[in-house]
Amino acid sequence: MYFVSTRDKDQLHPVSLSEAVIKGLANDGGLFMPQKINTLIKEELVKIPFMNLHEIASLVLSLFLGDAVKKEKLESICAEVFNFQIPLVEIEKNIYSLELFHGPTLAFKDVGARFMARILEYFSSDYKKEIKVVVATSGDTGSAVAAGFHGVNGIQVYILYPKGKVSRMQQKQLTTWGENITALELQGTFDDCQYHVKKLLSDPELRLTSLFTSANSINIARLLPQVVYYVYAWSRVQHHGKPIIMSVPSGNFGNLTAGILAQKIGVPIFHFIAATNKNDIVPVYLREGNFLPRPSVQTISNAMDVGNPSNFERLLQLFDNAYPALRKAISGYSYSDEETQKAMINIFESYAYVSDPHGAIGFLGLKQYISEHPGEFSGVFLETAHPAKFHETVEKCLDITISIPEKLKAFEEKEGHAVACLNDYETVKKLILNGVSNAKQ
Ligand SMILES: *Cc1c(COP(=O)(O)O)cnc(C)c1O
Repeated sequence: MYFVSTRDKDQLHPVSLSEAVIKGLANDGGLFMPQKINTLIKEELVKIPFMNLHEIASLVLSLFLGDAVKKEKLESICAEVFNFQIPLVEIEKNIYSLELFHGPTLAFKDVGARFMARILEYFSSDYKKEIKVVVATSGDTGSAVAAGFHGVNGIQVYILYPKGKVSRMQQKQLTTWGENITALELQGTFDDCQYHVKKLLSDPELRLTSLFTSANSINIARLLPQVVYYVYAWSRVQHHGKPIIMSVPSGNFGNLTAGILAQKIGVPIFHFIAATNKNDIVPVYLREGNFLPRPSVQTISNAMDVGNPSNFERLLQLFDNAYPALRKAISGYSYSDEETQKAMINIFESYAYVSDPHGAIGFLGLKQYISEHPGEFSGVFLETAHPAKFHETVEKCLDITISIPEKLKAFEEKEGHAVACLNDYETVKKLILNGVSNAKQ
């Protein structure tokens, strides 16, 4: 199985999985995508509802990875990565919350980060140099990546996060690891962090000295395992026989891209919702046909504060750059913080269900679509983070106290360490090149 850049229109430079993972970004600045998308045969599709989560994962991922990873190895990686439940909770008739937050850092990004760490480790013996993984985070990615890579030999991880723009709990989860994990606190926004990461990956000078890759969803190994969520959710509601709508709270649009990939391999998902906060670049595009990135604004759903969604290129490519086709498959909605808070209150009062701000936006998008398209649907919104990760916001909004899961408490008690960093590319580069470390001795 080969991977090609979204910008390599004639597919002149296919690369192996190993190369796609270690590069992160293609030489032309595009993002890797599978060259060919295999589909599930009918016999496989009908079996999926009877398979368990990690069996589904092995089957789905083998379609994308081919023989790049040995079958037994892929199965054991999937069993390790998908070793927690992804409950589908029916909060109202035909409306489900797909709880993706039962992993080690309580956000959906655990799956992608854990999978990528294992794939990179699998291929690391192909390379003789130390591997440096850089990642920009608006909060959740960094901790999931840290948890996924902590203690992995031969891999150094650098996390760039925007100073003062992540929640207190998220900061703890970024800065308390030590060993091979270094947190850089940038005096800038998430978009600045992402800009620096992209520039590092395409910097010719760095390519010569070290092996650099990114663990953002620009890395195809982060993105592909997310396809599994959608196949799994479909498999657990398909017996109702209703068209399935999936609403995806989105920032960088890796998760939604994975949803479209699930559809492409032949899983009958009827429609997708791109639900955003006021960083509504994609909903505006879906409405008006113009993709206009702009600086991100801060919201209470901060993991989605993205002004220039990287995976948009992939989404476009999946629809052969055809705006009408994209519009037909995806509806976009965006919501203010006030609307998000109202939704959290409504979900709590109506269903006694505590959602986090991101999930609440997914819920709003789903409800809006259904109200505008009367009919019988099974609606699934992705609940992307545990509400305790945003407990200050959630508690204030709902006037309740959330008990903090043990997994999170453990971080609270540790002291964090971060390296302060100016919002300047050369400074970032120097710190990483020289192997600055905030590891406690
Ligand atoms: C990262 C994140 C999102 C957005 O996912 P994308 O793949 O970047 O669109 C949504 N919710 C939470 C909690 C996240 O951490």
